[in-house]
Amino acid sequence: MNSKYELLEQIRVDIIENNVCPDLAQEAKNLVMGDGNIDAEIVLIGEAPGKNEDETGLPFVGAAGRFLDEMLSQANIKRSDVFITNIVKYRPPNNRDPLPEEKKAFWPYLVRQLDAIKPQIIVTLGRHSMEYFIPDQKISLIHGQPKRITFGDTKLVIVPLYHPAAALYNGGMRATLIEDFIKLPKIIDILKNEKENI
Ligand code: URA
Repeated sequence: MNSKYELLEQIRVDIIENNVCPDLAQEAKNLVMGDGNIDAEIVLIGEAPGKNEDETGLPFVGAAGRFLDEMLSQANIKRSDVFITNIVKYRPPNNRDPLPEEKKAFWPYLVRQLDAIKPQIIVTLGRHSMEYFIPDQKISLIHGQPKRITFGDTKLVIVPLYHPAAALYNGGMRATLIEDFIKLPKIIDILKNEKENI
């Protein structure tokens, strides 16, 4: 059987070989697959790389990334313990929102990443990554609440959170996002206890 690392590497190769979103690929400097611990209990999923991410090939390294680091540290979670990726893996020009067809094109590759990593919880950052897991919901109503979903044979727990870039300059949203982040270790403990008691 392939190792997790090999499975993840194959996803990168397949995105290139299958020529996913050629218009984005042509303008992008890097394919930003994700970064972090491939045995993580938490996978965080943002929207798409921005300028800094495109230049470095790493997710969440600009202003939103620094804010994300701050929230992880407030929740006592090490960045090196989580895996961070995006739904769309090439930078959209001028940081525009990813288009529905771009999200659709990258979705199967995100599912394969999650299937390889098998985290306890998936934290979606913002509505772009939330809407594929939990359609037709308002993030303002369900942020911070774990939602169980079934995905083929796989059961997943999704925790939808606001996007750090949206909260960066909005005091109220910032406080809410920090409160939601602080709940994550507790949610994982509850899930682990449930599994032990089955
Ligand atoms: N915003 C995102 O959604 N993803 C990144 O990688 C950086 C900023």
